[in-house]
Order: sequence, then C-alpha cells, then structure tokens
Amino acid sequence: MSEPTFATLVSRWYEQNARDLPWRVPGVGAWAILVSEVMLQQTPVVRVLPAFHAWLTRWPTPAALAADTPAEAIRMWGRLGYPRRAVRLRDCAVAIVQRHGGAVPDRLDQLLALPGVGTYTARAVAAFAYGQRHPVVDTNVRRVVCRAIAGEPDAGPATRPADLVATEELLPSDPAAAALASAAFMELGAVVCTARSPRCPGCPVKSVCAWRASGQAAPAGPTRRPQRYAGTDRQVRGLLLAVLREATGPVPRQRLDQVWTDDVQRSRALAGLVTDGLVEPVGGAEFRLAGDGPTAPALPTGG
Ligand code: SF4
Repeated sequence: MSEPTFATLVSRWYEQNARDLPWRVPGVGAWAILVSEVMLQQTPVVRVLPAFHAWLTRWPTPAALAADTPAEAIRMWGRLGYPRRAVRLRDCAVAIVQRHGGAVPDRLDQLLALPGVGTYTARAVAAFAYGQRHPVVDTNVRRVVCRAIAGEPDAGPATRPADLVATEELLPSDPAAAALASAAFMELGAVVCTARSPRCPGCPVKSVCAWRASGQAAPAGPTRRPQRYAGTDRQVRGLLLAVLREATGPVPRQRLDQVWTDDVQRSRALAGLVTDGLVEPVGGAEFRLAGDGPTAPALPTGG
C-alpha cells in the first residue's frame, strides 16, 4: 500500500480536529461563506463570530443587504476594524443581485469580477461553497507549504503566483477532496504550524515535514512588531466613525471637531473617510455615513 499523501495526512487530522465554526457547517451557503471570508481577512475568529451571526441574521441573502444602505452596513460592522470591508461587501451584494440574480456565482472568473473579491476570497468561496478544486492560499497555508514542502522557516511577505502553483500541486485531483484539503491546510497553519510557536510534536505531517527533516530547531517565525494604534489616523477615523454611527441624522463639523484635538490629523482622517466612501458631506458643514439619508448615492453598476 502506498504512503498517504501530504494532503491525506492533513485532511485526516482536520476531520478529527477542526474547530467547530459556523461557516463550516454543511450546507451553510455561499453567501455566509463569502461574508465569513471577508470578515476573517483582518479580524480574529473570536471577534468575527458574533458579528457573523448578527450580519447573517439581518441580511441572510445578498439581496437583503443590497436593499439596505451603505450606512447600515457600516453601522453593523461596528468595531470589527477596516470598515471599508463593510462597504465593499455591500457593493459586492449589489453586484451579485445585478449580475447573478442574487445568487453568489460559482464560476471563478465571475467571483473574481465582484467588488472587493480578490485571489484568495474568490478561490475560498469556489472551494468551500461549491466544492471546486482551487489552491486557496492565505498566510497560514503559505507558511505550512513553505515549511513542510520547501523546508524553509517562513514564507515571504506577500502571496506570489508560485505559492498558488506549489499549493495546487499538493491538492488531490478529486474536487471534493481538494476542497477538504484546502480547509485542512488553513486549519493546520492556524492552530498547529503557527508563525511564532509551531507545535511540531503534535503535527500530523511531522514525519514528512522538510523543515523537521532538516534537523533544525522549530522555526520561530518572523519577528513582528505589534501595530501601533493609539495616536494613529486609524484611531482618529474610528473615533469619527463612532460618532457618525450613533447619529440619526447629519452631524455638524463642530461635533466631529470634539473627538480629536489635532486639527490637521482630524481633517486628514475625515477626508480619508470621505475618499474611502464611508462618509459623505452634507452641504458645507455637516457629515453623515455614506448613503445615510434621502439622497443616497446610486448603486454601483461596475466591477
Ligand atoms: Fe509546521 Fe512543525 Fe508541522 Fe513542519 S512539523 S508543518 S514546521 S508544525
């Protein structure tokens, strides 16, 4: 009998050890998977869970979100961070309604053409929602493949086309088995082969891992400086958005002036929110969340 493949080892481990997460429930649907993937891009699982449930309860379909305003999407996004994702997700819902009759498409080219859907997200939806065979490569998968196959301690800073090729070569030919393996690779990188403290003794591929075979100590991962938040434009943007999220109508500039004393930084943060489509000026002296009023901007029609 031949040795189990790398994907088989990881998939077997995954079937026994995968975390119980709502977007992995069988039959959860492509919309829920798309929402989860967007939320998980820059936010930890534990913070995504309540937001995911609230979002899907309010907007169980793309059509439901598309019928609501960008302002409500921003409000529901709350403090998940990087709120442009909320607006892009609504833009995406609008495009799904306009181009695909409200059903999340299953073709990779159509997924890639949706607003805010990139290489990773499109393949994740195609694999996890529709059981297709695509390399789904996030930071965790790149790290696992880099260590276990290439024998290097860590992957570089950005996903390259070569990462997709290297991961695809590991996938079983059967689409369903490939989709399972893709989920398994991600989980292994998230909970075992972590960046800073990989748990090699308990790893299902320790017997075939190129890094382990090299005899070197467990990789320590990149030294990452914690991101500063206090005093940054991100903090000021968050404070401005918090006021606008709570408001039931346009907010005078003087009210926004109270959230931060540095005029230059506050103005820069406010201008950035307007440029990013999160906030819109009303007349010359008031602001509100995008689309939060009777003169909502037209629905996007392009990709
Ligand atoms: Fe990562 Fe260690 Fe497993 Fe290799 S044996 S894949 S380095 S956790």
